[in-house]
Amino acid sequence: MNPQCARCGKVVYPTEKVNCLDKYWHKGCFHCEVCKMALNMNNYKGYEKKPYCNA
Ligand SMILES: [Zn+2]
Ligand SMILES: [Zn+2]
Repeated sequence: MNPQCARCGKVVYPTEKVNCLDKYWHKGCFHCEVCKMALNMNNYKGYEKKPYCNA
């Protein structure tokens, strides 16, 4: 069974899955809450279960 994206609510397939903050995200949905900058496992900052950039 595939998990649902924490942002858009659609199914996340293994090829586009990002597992962060105890949730699953599409690569394209995993971006900063504020500035929408694309994030990855190495440069995100988690705060209250939401991803942010370093800025
Ligand atoms: Zn999504
Ligand atoms: Zn940002």
